[in-house]
Amino acid sequence: MTKPASRRARKRYFDFKSFLVDRFGCRVYKLQIDAGFTCPNRDGTIAVGGCAYCDGRGSSLRQKGPLPAVAQQIADGKALYRNLRGAAKFIAYFQTFTNTYAPVESLRALYDEALAQPDVVGLSIGTRPDCVDEDVLRLLEGYAGRSHVWVEYGLQSIHDGTLGRMNRGHDSACFADAVRRTAGRGLFICAHIILGLPGETRADMMKTARAVAALPVDGVKVHSLLALRGTEVGRLFEEGKISLMGQEDYVSTVCDVLELLPPSVVIQRITAEGYRDIYLGPGWAQSKLKVLNAIDRELEKRDTWQGAKYMERD
Ligand code: SF4
Repeated sequence: MTKPASRRARKRYFDFKSFLVDRFGCRVYKLQIDAGFTCPNRDGTIAVGGCAYCDGRGSSLRQKGPLPAVAQQIADGKALYRNLRGAAKFIAYFQTFTNTYAPVESLRALYDEALAQPDVVGLSIGTRPDCVDEDVLRLLEGYAGRSHVWVEYGLQSIHDGTLGRMNRGHDSACFADAVRRTAGRGLFICAHIILGLPGETRADMMKTARAVAALPVDGVKVHSLLALRGTEVGRLFEEGKISLMGQEDYVSTVCDVLELLPPSVVIQRITAEGYRDIYLGPGWAQSKLKVLNAIDRELEKRDTWQGAKYMERD
């Protein structure tokens, strides 16, 4: 199998670090911002309780007390990343809860504040597919002409039964509609997928990968289901009513997913850890480097690449 020639791939998948270095010519880091948003899937607007796997605490910063201003959070993050990793440029990642869940003028003020900080070259806005009306998309589109802007949509699964069981509060059609309305505006679109959701088979997960591959999505984040104390998933796990993926199963499944995604889709994340104080499992996912190495080894062993089966029909 031939390594894709379209980019300077350091890995067998199109990793985000390579994407950013190729685009900006230097190390670029996403700085996590907690701008104090809430979530309509928690406050009763759509549902209460939130998604079954969401711990609802927000960022670690929020847990410490009043949130610093966006500019201060960026200044603190920059100092940390510069010292630790030699980062030169930054993307302000509005991560905590639903970061388009406010009037447009409030959103504009927050995003403007982030982009006004030195060396901030872009925004990444984490949100729900049911929280982006035309006014929000026009606002984001306005930034795309002058900076690098990602919109990150939680999907997790393309199966409506799973979305219902996880209390997502939207269906897969809502996600597809949001992606189509976002595309063509100069914005980069990222979809979040969770593998190992209760009741899903590997074939179900491959259907999710194929569905995402068929949409105008530019990036993907994938991780295995994590059980956290205080969540519905955590409760079911502690009561022995659901099981979590093993590392071998996850690595093999995520490699199958990579094979189905277009080579051009940037893999922003391929495994995730959770807060240690409420973490119930799976234990292996807390060793991020080991998981990343295992994925690299599996792709080597198979002599395969992201996109190797993208054109195949199921
Ligand atoms: S949409 Fe996001 S923030 Fe809201 S409950 Fe679900 S996971 Fe939590």
